Order: sequence, then C-alpha cells, then structure tokens
Amino acid sequence: RPIQIAIDGPAGAGKSTVAKRLAKELGYCYIDTGAMYRALTFKALKKKYDINNEDTLRDLIKKTHIEIKNVCKENQIFVDSKNVTYEIRKPEVSNNVSLVAKSKHVREYMLKLQREMAQSGGVVMDGRDIGTVVLPEAEVKFFLTASLQARAHRRYLELDKKGFNVDLDTIAQEISLRDEIDQQREYAPLIQAIDAILVDTSNQTIDEVVESLKQEVER
Ligand code: C5P
Repeated sequence: RPIQIAIDGPAGAGKSTVAKRLAKELGYCYIDTGAMYRALTFKALKKKYDINNEDTLRDLIKKTHIEIKNVCKENQIFVDSKNVTYEIRKPEVSNNVSLVAKSKHVREYMLKLQREMAQSGGVVMDGRDIGTVVLPEAEVKFFLTASLQARAHRRYLELDKKGFNVDLDTIAQEISLRDEIDQQREYAPLIQAIDAILVDTSNQTIDEVVESLKQEVER
C-alpha cells in the first residue's frame, strides 16, 4: 500500500496550500477532496436540483461523472468532462457545499472514488474526514486549525486574488456556518482523529507549517 498522509480541519485553516506544498516536497500526489464535493454542488446548483432531498441527490450522483486530472501536480477538477476548477470556488458553491456533503449517498459515492484515488502512489489527501473515514490507516494524520479571524482573513485574500468581490465579515460568517454544518452532520462529521497531530496555524507562515509537517512525516 502506498504511503498516505491525511490532512483535515475546518475551512481556511490552510489545508490545501500546505497539503499541496508538502506533497511537492515529498514527491507525492495531492488530492483535494473538497473540490469533489464542490464539483457536485456546482452541477446541482446549475441544474437546479433540490440539494436538501436525498432522492434527488441520489439521482444526481447516478448521472454525474467527477474526475480529478493531474492529481500529482495542480489538480484540475472535471464534472461530466467539463473543467470546473475555477467555478467551484465561487461563493454560491461555498455556501451550499456543506448541505450536499451532509448526504449519506453523496458521501458513500465520494468515499469510493477517494479510496481508489489514494492508490495512485504516495499521497497527501486533504478534507474533513480523511483521517477518520477515508484513510483511517494513513501513516501520518494532521488536524490543521486556526482562529476564525485568521481563517476568514486567509480566505478573503485567496478569493480577492482570484478576482471575486468579497467582504471579510461576510466570509467569517459563511465559514463559521459551514464549519458548524460539517461538525454536526450525521455521517463522517468534521472531527480530529484520535491519532492526528493538532497544528494551530494562526500565527505561523505557510513555510513554517510545511516545515513542521515535513519533520513529523520524516520522523
Ligand atoms: O476543503 P473545501 O473548503 O473545499 O471543502 C468544501 C466542503 O466540502 C466542506 O465544507 C465540506 O462540507 C465538504 N467536504 C467534506 N469532506 C471532505 C472534504 C470536503 O464533507 N473530505
């Protein structure tokens, strides 16, 4: 079995930036599982599916093909052969994704895809339930967290850079609501795995976080 590193935590804790860098430095693949939930949400909204209805979501999954290309470099996410890498970062998707991710059917579908993808070689996978559910046997698990203020600020800078028109207070409210839904859902809620290393990134630079994670992996 290839080496697996799991990185979980709430929105804006720096998971994807850190996971991407760590994977590059270790020569591993990087898999962004949040992008998969976002891609499905993007399609659901576009096709006007009722995202609060399990039967509707089950029907949607049956008709949808989600794929991450370029897993070992810059992930490109496709839904039914359309590249949605940019669109899935839109606030409309961010504000609805947790409702889609609550679904039992959706989670079962993603679990299967994600486990298959983790066979592609040494892998750094980031998400909400990687250490607890997707890869419970992962060699190293991290739980990244940061103050709400720090997380909102990072998300703000990220979205601003991508050209989205955003407001800091609105982002803070949106991510705390999303975290709440992710923590309180019935299936695979966002929680720290008992064997995960807790890393508070509030007062650390990306370089510092990557360096400390790398040291843990190489220990
Ligand atoms: O990581 P990102 O912010 O892109 O994740 C978007 C959403 O997808 C999360 O808020 C959560 O609802 C869902 N998600 C999940 N399980 C994962 C990854 C993401 O439920 N492993």
